[in-house]
Amino acid sequence: MLNDPELNKGTAFTEAERTALGLRGLLPPRVMTQDEQLERILPGVRSRPTPLDQYSYLVGLHDRNVTLFYRLVMDHLEEMMPILYTPTVGQACQEFGRIFRRSRGLFVTADDAGRVRDVLANWPHNDVRMIVVTDGERILGLGDLGANGMGIPIGKLTLYTACAGVDPRQCLPITIDVGTDNTQLRESSSYMGLRQPRLRGPAYDALLDEFVEALQERFPQVCLQFEDFGNHNAFTLLEKWRDRICTFNDDIQGTASVTLAGLYSAARISGTAFKDMRLLFLGAGEAGIGIGDLVVSAMVEEGVPLEEARARCWFVDSKGLVVKSRTDLASHKQPYAHDHPPMATLLEAVESLKPHAIIGVSGTPGTFTAPVLAAMARHNARPIVMALSNPTSKAECTAREAYASTDGRAIFASGSPFAPVTHKGRTHVPGQGNNAYIFPGVGLGVIVADASRVTDEMFAAAARTLANMVTEDDLAMGRIFPSLSRIRDVSRAIATEVAWIAYNRGLARAPKPESMDDAVAAAMYEPVYPSFLN
Ligand code: NAP
Ligand code: MN
Repeated sequence: MLNDPELNKGTAFTEAERTALGLRGLLPPRVMTQDEQLERILPGVRSRPTPLDQYSYLVGLHDRNVTLFYRLVMDHLEEMMPILYTPTVGQACQEFGRIFRRSRGLFVTADDAGRVRDVLANWPHNDVRMIVVTDGERILGLGDLGANGMGIPIGKLTLYTACAGVDPRQCLPITIDVGTDNTQLRESSSYMGLRQPRLRGPAYDALLDEFVEALQERFPQVCLQFEDFGNHNAFTLLEKWRDRICTFNDDIQGTASVTLAGLYSAARISGTAFKDMRLLFLGAGEAGIGIGDLVVSAMVEEGVPLEEARARCWFVDSKGLVVKSRTDLASHKQPYAHDHPPMATLLEAVESLKPHAIIGVSGTPGTFTAPVLAAMARHNARPIVMALSNPTSKAECTAREAYASTDGRAIFASGSPFAPVTHKGRTHVPGQGNNAYIFPGVGLGVIVADASRVTDEMFAAAARTLANMVTEDDLAMGRIFPSLSRIRDVSRAIATEVAWIAYNRGLARAPKPESMDDAVAAAMYEPVYPSFLN
């Protein structure tokens, strides 16, 4: 009992439990309540000198006592999220070998081809409903981190539980280790993954096929979230599986949903209706194209013709503005290649297109320069600036830069958190445009309905639901997302909408509940200790 982190209550085992379970003498004598345990532990977290030390401390707590870990995280979510998620989780991945203590989740490797089934059989829980899987090729904006990417599925699933109450025993983080092309990492003494270049081509595809098929057998009700795959594989895997199993790609679809919600809210401040907005993206990868596609379908829903909606979305990639005359465009970029002279830089594109919003999903910091921001401020009374690249070190600009270069007029949001900024006596609170507002609720809704598919309609509904929860007070502070302190309510509302869609579209496999809202609430895990008597 004491060594199983899912059962352990530590000093909270009662007198009667200590007697009945043979724990007497194995614990300090005083029986503590969970609140008293928290009071003892919280200063311990806060006193660690760096965010990475705090991360390690929290992982240690999770390794000892899962229930207490979630109590602490849920009660102090705004404080703990930057430690367990972006930005610190990025550093945790980079230093995975150094801070590693106890293994968590599953590693499926290139060497497991032909025996993936056996690897999955080793997972001790059968009722897995939510899997986050990465192959570590594009971890946040940090690039190829190989097997060290495991920090991301762990962090995402922590948020499923903390933000939406998905039962931790139903969550499984998986890393598919096919090697890494990051040679410096691969050759470092602390690296724990396969020391070989990345598997690519047919062998990679076959391993992934075997993995997905074995998963369906082992966990027939599971929802599979693809996370932080390299660009090419991410699009290919999504296309291959989205209509065949219950799956989604968070970087493409989750990011799209949170960004759409941000645009709906920004419209309330800027006065330009969402359907009339012209958007310029920096980055035409998973996140950028995912957002573009969802924005287009939302505009079409509002009566804008398809071609016109597409013409509202412009992209700059590493080679400049995406235009018709270019011959180097991957297929996902082609719908957004419009008639326009080529432009090499973002600044030229801003001057020429006069967008209402710039959306940074390039993973390249410092690209929303002072001249770019100033140009946005010249063309808009309230320019929308979203610097969505993670972690903080990769953001296209900082919150301070966004406000300073736009005379405090920017409607700013970022993927990783920034502290409030006071500019000329006025305090602006940046919103965090992060898919953490979306995927936990979507996953919970899928689980409650036992949905067989995850659809774009669900992400569109999630965006509307999230935007509807932004208050006038939020907007007055400059924040286009609700306070993180409300994230459990947000997730619950999103889950209810998503579950409704599953029933209405014939995708639900669970019996229809009398009240969807009650069914969602009842499904939400609470970190309270069970009694082990009887
Ligand atoms: P991706 O598929 O690799 O795409 C990156 C895109 O950025 C590519 O189109 C690339 O151009 C372009 N790019 C790179 N450097 C550039 C530069 N200097 N100027 C202009 N374009 C440049 O990656 P992704 O999945 O879209 O992720 C990108 C970033 O978004 C990451 O930092 C990630 O952390 C962040 N993100 C944030 C959230 C959130 O919730 N806030 C969610 C998902 C992702 P080419 O096509 O020419 O190579
Ligand atoms: Mn991601």
